[in-house]
Amino acid sequence: MSSNQNEGFSLQCPVPRGTHATVQMAHGGGGRVMRNLIEGFFLPAFGSDPAKEPPHDAAVMDVPEGRLAMTTDTFVVSPLFFPGGDIGKLAVYGTVNDLAMAGARPWALSAAFILEEGLPLETLERIVASMRDAALEVGVRIVTGDTKVVDRGKGDGVFINTAGIGVVAPGVQVAPRRVKPGDAVIVSGDLGRHGMAVMSVREGLAFEAELQSDCASLAGLVDTLLEAGADVHCLRDLTRGGLAAALCEIADGAGVGIELDEASIPVSPPVANACELLGLDPLYVANEGRLVVFLPAEAAERTLEIMRSHPAAPQPAVVGTVTETHPGMVQLRTTLGAERIVDLLSGEQMPRIC
Ligand code: MG
Repeated sequence: MSSNQNEGFSLQCPVPRGTHATVQMAHGGGGRVMRNLIEGFFLPAFGSDPAKEPPHDAAVMDVPEGRLAMTTDTFVVSPLFFPGGDIGKLAVYGTVNDLAMAGARPWALSAAFILEEGLPLETLERIVASMRDAALEVGVRIVTGDTKVVDRGKGDGVFINTAGIGVVAPGVQVAPRRVKPGDAVIVSGDLGRHGMAVMSVREGLAFEAELQSDCASLAGLVDTLLEAGADVHCLRDLTRGGLAAALCEIADGAGVGIELDEASIPVSPPVANACELLGLDPLYVANEGRLVVFLPAEAAERTLEIMRSHPAAPQPAVVGTVTETHPGMVQLRTTLGAERIVDLLSGEQMPRIC
């Protein structure tokens, strides 16, 4: 892990364990404080050994043959810990999943932390451990990072940015332009868990215990699909804006229509109940471990079979089809048999959920 050690600041270090230690602004002597933090705290968690490879300004690595994919995302979720996950897990899986959606195998991540003065070090330690575990599970390394501290009241505990690079194997083409009329639209599981799990904690809803975020890596599932030779035209993770936003963007980008069948869209009873209570539509609620696949309809059955064998696709279902008619538009056939247009929302339905 290399790090920008020149500016900003920093944790009070060496990091005292236990008690009520918190993140402090450090005035003067910053270089050593930052070095202690990186060497004593982040490097061990993220698997780098400064004795073997002294820290440098940038990570240098070999990459396998193929094209590089790169993405970045910033995580500001509130609360930091929620049923089924936390900001650290989200910061790793979120970026890993965006790489996977391009058909890339995640190769390396960066992690940058903006810490609010007064943040308990124990909280930071839990978050860093969670990132380490998530990265280990995915098989991706966190190779570089940065830490800044802002004054009390100028942040909200922790914000994390992760960037990632991945490698797209030769021959793999996963992109909206490949979506064609006749493609099947398949989701990997029930929708709306993440958004409703976070909202239930925030709103103090009684059924909070039943609602777990779906926060998970999708890289293994994508790998399995590509390894099986599935002719995947496009993938999209159903994060902010949910299935509705993902499909509207793809319909628009690919210049095709999409017809959805509401009855076939999996939504669990606790999510449906919570949505009804809060006046939300599960189609628009964020997920952090669900994706949509577009591929030729004749491959749908075989794809469902492959997905059913993978833990990251708990309830795969064909939910719609790509059409030539009404290009750029998503239409939903409701459970009552009516047709309605699914449109992008003008505002943010749920702020700070990722
Ligand atoms: Mg995405």
